[in-house]
Order: sequence, then C-alpha cells, then structure tokens
Amino acid sequence: MKAYLLTRLILAVNAGYLAIYVSAPAFLEAAPVKKRKAEITSVREISKDKSLVTNMKKDIKVVRFPAVDSKNKPVKAKYHFYIQGGLHGNEILTSKFVLWLVKRLRKHQGPLSRLDKKLVAIDLVPVANPDGIADNTRTNKKKVNLNRNFSHLWGLSKEYPGTHSFSEPETRSTRYLFENNKYTASVDVHGYINWIVAPTKPTLIQVENNKDLANRYNSWLTALKKQTKKFDPSYELKTAGGLGDGGAFEDWAFWNQGSLAFCLEMATAFRYQHNFNKATKKSVRKDVFIKYEKFIYDMFRHAIKITDDSKLIANN
Ligand SMILES: [Zn+2]
Repeated sequence: MKAYLLTRLILAVNAGYLAIYVSAPAFLEAAPVKKRKAEITSVREISKDKSLVTNMKKDIKVVRFPAVDSKNKPVKAKYHFYIQGGLHGNEILTSKFVLWLVKRLRKHQGPLSRLDKKLVAIDLVPVANPDGIADNTRTNKKKVNLNRNFSHLWGLSKEYPGTHSFSEPETRSTRYLFENNKYTASVDVHGYINWIVAPTKPTLIQVENNKDLANRYNSWLTALKKQTKKFDPSYELKTAGGLGDGGAFEDWAFWNQGSLAFCLEMATAFRYQHNFNKATKKSVRKDVFIKYEKFIYDMFRHAIKITDDSKLIANN
C-alpha cells in the first residue's frame, strides 16, 4: 500500500513538473540546440562501387560534416579534413575516439567545432578495418597489415603487406575517398605508444621533381615537431620511413595525394588517467581524448596556414 502511495506521489509530482514545463513561457525554456548536419554513409554508397566493401562484405562507414552557409545549406568547402581510426582492428580505443569526435562535432563541442563551418568540411572513418574489429585482429581478414598496404615504399615491411599495394578493399576505399576529395590534412589514429609519425623525409628525386611538395613537407614537419613538443614531453616524433615499415597511410596520403598527413599514436589503451592529488588526497580522473582532440585541431590549424601560405606564394 505504502509503495502504491509513493508511486502515486511520484507520478503526481512528475505531472506537476510536466504541467509547469508545458505552460512555461518560451523564454524560460532552454533553446534546443540544433545538432550539426552530418551524413552517415559508406564508401560503397558514395562510390556506387559494390567492390568497395571488406572481405567479409562489411561496409566502411563514413561520417561527413559538410561546410555549410549561414542557412545551414551545404556549400563547397575551402578546407577538407579526414580523420580515421581502427585501421588496426585490435586498437579499439582509436575507433571509440573517432566516434567520440563525431558526437562532439554533432553537438558543436570541442575545438574542432570552432573551425569555421562555412569553410571547413570533415570526413571521419571511425572503423577503417571493420573485419579486424570484428575479429579483434591487427590485420584484415586476409591477414594483411593494412597500414603496410599503401603504395609509398610498399613491400619493406616484415609484416605481410599484401600481394601488392592496394591489394585490399579497405585501402582501395581510402584511395577512393582521397582521389575524389582534396583533403587539406588527414590523420590516421593508432595505438599504443607515445609517438607522432610524420611522412617519410623526401628523397633527392622528390625534391628535384616537386619542389613545392618538398617545401610543403618541410613546413609540415616543422609544425609537427613544434606541436609534438608542446603536446606531451614524453612523446617522440618519428617518420614512417624512419620506422622502416613502408606502405603506411601517412606516406601515401602526403606524397601521392598532397594531404598534410600524420599518424597519431595513442599512448595507452586506456581512456582515463587517474592521478593522485597529494594536496586534496583525491584521485583525479583525466580524459585523454580531450588532449588528442586538441592535438588534431592544432595540426589542422597549421595545415590551413601552410595551405594559405603556399597559395600566396603561388599567386605572387
Ligand atoms: Zn596501429
């Protein structure tokens, strides 16, 4: 009986609140925040190419935030960015991080949301290796390390890089996106070690043949160096070629596609750091996603500046 009365009471109170809420003057109601326009699609849908699915016939999903005008209508972006996670299927936190970025962008939260929406479009691929995530493996279904399957310096790797570069539908999907969108900058998120990985230093041949790209490389490497130092003193800046692997995403994205690319390694597989505060004798929980998000934002800002500067030089 008591429980029944209590339930009635709660219902009555709730109804009261509801009545107040419904009859509240408009200015008392919090203005509903309109979520940022996003399109959830897949490489197969965008390309209309049925072969651009994984070996297990899974779609590679893409979340697209177009640049929009003041009336929220999609417009052509001046700068286009690309963020990818989960190329190694067992690095699950990287996919969770990219999904979290999607949520942040949808809700206009975080530094990436401060980039001018009239000028900036962002494509995100949270799970670049869906079969690997399903099986919790580093490789794809055919045991190929996808981050060794891109074309620049392909075949150096001790890990299986595939029968030839772009032998895999997952890397061909990435190639499709890059060949059909001019990505100003791009990041491939990995784990777990405290490194930022830049594209390989230019060879003499590249400097001879493409001085602009070599200059862009130097500006990009300088920016990565500066930002890595600021980001975390325990972090080291590596280059893909310096690691001796070959076939890495950031190398191909930069040297073949001209995108200011890098690989962001998350230091650990844990989202939260717990630090004991001696003064308050309390454990403080820190969300590391925040600092990775900020690093990406800082690098995108550098990319915008480098792109604008190179256009100025070209126009003079
Ligand atoms: Zn990885």
